[in-house]
Amino acid sequence: MAGADTRFIHAARKSDAWHAPPLDFSTTYPIPDMTEAANSLHQLAHGAPMAPNAVYARLHNPTVARFEEALAAVEYANHGIAFATGMAAITATLLVASGRGKHIVAIRPLYGGTDHVLSSGFGGLEVTFATPENLTEALRDDTALVIMETPANPTLKLTDIKAVVEAAGDVPVMVDSTFATPVLQQPLELGATLVVHSATKYIGGHGDVMGGIVATNDEDWAASLRSMRAGTGGLLHPLGGYLLHRGLQTLPVRIEKAQSNAQFLVERLLSHPAVTAVHFPGLEDSQGLVGTQMSGPGAMVAFEVASKAAAQTVMTALQLITPAVSLGSTDTLLQHPASLTHQLVEEHDRQECGVSEGLLRLSVGLETVEDIWDDLAAALAMAHTRRRRRRRGLALDRQYR
Ligand SMILES: *Cc1c(COP(=O)(O)O)cnc(C)c1O
Repeated sequence: MAGADTRFIHAARKSDAWHAPPLDFSTTYPIPDMTEAANSLHQLAHGAPMAPNAVYARLHNPTVARFEEALAAVEYANHGIAFATGMAAITATLLVASGRGKHIVAIRPLYGGTDHVLSSGFGGLEVTFATPENLTEALRDDTALVIMETPANPTLKLTDIKAVVEAAGDVPVMVDSTFATPVLQQPLELGATLVVHSATKYIGGHGDVMGGIVATNDEDWAASLRSMRAGTGGLLHPLGGYLLHRGLQTLPVRIEKAQSNAQFLVERLLSHPAVTAVHFPGLEDSQGLVGTQMSGPGAMVAFEVASKAAAQTVMTALQLITPAVSLGSTDTLLQHPASLTHQLVEEHDRQECGVSEGLLRLSVGLETVEDIWDDLAAALAMAHTRRRRRRRGLALDRQYR
């Protein structure tokens, strides 16, 4: 078997006809033969990956199919099913699940958008939020799916995939592996039935394309997901498919550099006086999952400052780092989860999964790491000085009262 980097570069790129794959924007394909037309439509609408004729772009697109094949190859999956966004991939999975049972078990913390959809009664689903420890009690006869995320957004909490799969028994497990990417973690190899990525993040890697993908070895799930996509139309545009397939080639080298930058920054954050806590896979890894489940800690870092006001000071002071949501881009991004990604999660639930008012989430980019640190350190210093000044102010008040 080829080495990992080789697989990322060559997956679904073998052709005598081209070096870079062609882009196919057709919405429809000519089929004069009505029997062939009927057969092809039937196969594709029922979830076949391809048919003698592609018929219509909501059923099949060759450019998108190449990205799906490549992603499946690096996830050790037989099938990849791409969608317009990560949320389109997740909601299609939930809709397929709702046809199999009315109950879902979800392990928090989760991406705020996923948490919000699960809490909103989407698809008529009943959702029990559980922990890995009480998962078995949460299962019911009609539980169709267990949903988990590791490392979890935004606190970087790690969950043992193998342990969850074991506890779930016959119930399929879906792992949102967006933060880890297929470079650092392959959930299907650990027994998960479905792995989901927001391809908008690391796979695209340049902040200019949205997409989502589900990979699986389960034939029924793959066919149902394709059929659901054809029915609901949450398609990945061919240009998106092209860019994501291109992004996959540099994913290992981007992750390696971003991860090494992240390790450098974590060391410095740990000893900064304005930082009250740092969350990074491997720092409090009592389960020993970094090096086993994940081959490295990744490049997402969360840290806490004293208050929401201090977080605001940091955000405003940034000169190089982009103050924005999303992650996995070439540039470093910083955001405040309580205001943005996790605003839609109820305050009580938010606090329970560790999203404090002073929590900031850093997506470490590929810049020269000293430049990232200089920017962050200057912003943190402002938060620290303000806090000290305020404290001194209070002390003075008291003195003169
Ligand atoms: C961003 C994200 C999603 C949603 O993906 P979109 O492409 O924005 O729809 C889902 N899960 C995780 C972990 C994410 O970071």
